Amino acid sequence: MRQSILFTKTRKEAPADEMSRNAELLIRGGFIHKEMAGVYSYLPLGLRVLKKIENIIREEMNRVGGQEVLMSSFQPKENWEKTGRWEAMDDLYKVIDSSGREVALGPTHEEIIVPILKNYISSYKDFPEGGPLAIYQIQNKFRMELRAKSGVLRGREFMMKDMYSFHKSASDFEGFYEKMKDVYKTIFQKMGIGHLTYMTFASGGTFAKYSHEFQTITAVGEDTIYVDEKKGVAVNKEVFNDEVLVQLNMVKEQLVENKSIEVGNIFDLKIKYSKPFDLSYVDEKEQKHDVLMGCYGIGLGRLMGTVVEVLSDDKGIIWPEAIAPFSIHLLLLGEGEAVKKEANKVYESLLKNNIEVLFDDRSGVTAGEKFADSDLLGIPLRAVISPRSIKEGGIEIKKRTEEKGKIVSLDELLKLLKSNV
Ligand code: ATP
Ligand code: MG
Repeated sequence: MRQSILFTKTRKEAPADEMSRNAELLIRGGFIHKEMAGVYSYLPLGLRVLKKIENIIREEMNRVGGQEVLMSSFQPKENWEKTGRWEAMDDLYKVIDSSGREVALGPTHEEIIVPILKNYISSYKDFPEGGPLAIYQIQNKFRMELRAKSGVLRGREFMMKDMYSFHKSASDFEGFYEKMKDVYKTIFQKMGIGHLTYMTFASGGTFAKYSHEFQTITAVGEDTIYVDEKKGVAVNKEVFNDEVLVQLNMVKEQLVENKSIEVGNIFDLKIKYSKPFDLSYVDEKEQKHDVLMGCYGIGLGRLMGTVVEVLSDDKGIIWPEAIAPFSIHLLLLGEGEAVKKEANKVYESLLKNNIEVLFDDRSGVTAGEKFADSDLLGIPLRAVISPRSIKEGGIEIKKRTEEKGKIVSLDELLKLLKSNV
């Protein structure tokens, strides 16, 4: 993409009321636009990042047999009354139309997915042989968050991947739940924050003793966790007491306190939602059983904000390759015809090789401004074409994380980029 046609521009300042580092950098880079507290629009660069995150998650959900759907945001009030959450959930948005009809604006989708499945499940034969049904979506959620001061980490409207699993037996549930722990670890690893993310025991399992949160360590986190480095797991401060430590076989003296962000979580729901909607099946002997459920969430915007919080430096964002908006930022420096021609040639050849490239072909912008913008946008590799680089025999490349660049030929650059893929 040519930067000269990109409608967003970088900014020196974020809005004065924006206190969080993630939103400051994302707004200054033109990735997102703030509409009001906790509500952001995604602009071309931000949407590219979001889509990459989405695709990594989708691939992993499909790998465990997940079936993708897209459920409605408007949700019938009766469903919410049935589970008792019309009254009990304090962050639920209730919308009234001009006829006086009330609907919920979906903060989560148990009240939708369970009634849908009621149309399709009544017998053991309605489950895949030897496994669960797992259904997921990647969709916007709405919650009346009181503390929406953390940029995209805590939105009032935000993108979530929510998966719901349906099981005939406890052992089937347990097997799948264990698998999902590994799937989540893989996702955060691919996102470039695996080394900072710990599976964390937390309260909040509906019937099971613990739910499992995935917490990424950073000083700006709202949560406090105690990390057991040796075991590679943590426990949330909210459940932290001597009895819990004994149960989890953890030793107080070996734990390190950290602030963290919950990027995802997995829950045992048992029959909490199947019961109110009577989601059940009959087995081979015509015996009726409630369907067991699990749920598995990841906040995509929160994940994006977390990456910005933990991987940026004083100059801007540092995207991991897997979710960067582009693989390479090509900078044209100088106004002469020769250098323009050379830069365009390199750009065309990158495109031909299916490399995702942002080409800063803007004229009337100084080299200093282009470098500063490039650091702010955080594309992993920068390539400069200038009269000097041409004189030295090629293209000057530098990783975003490195101080010094080096000169390479176009062939060498293509080889390098292809080996990254
Ligand atoms: P929190 O304790 O942070 O409010 P939660 O327990 O309400 O999170 P869930 O309802 O389980 O979260 O949602 C699943 C995932 O969705 C979370 O792990 C998080 O990644 C993301 N998420 C939840 N609330 C928000 C929000 N307001 N903005 C962005 N992402 C969110
Ligand atoms: Mg919440």
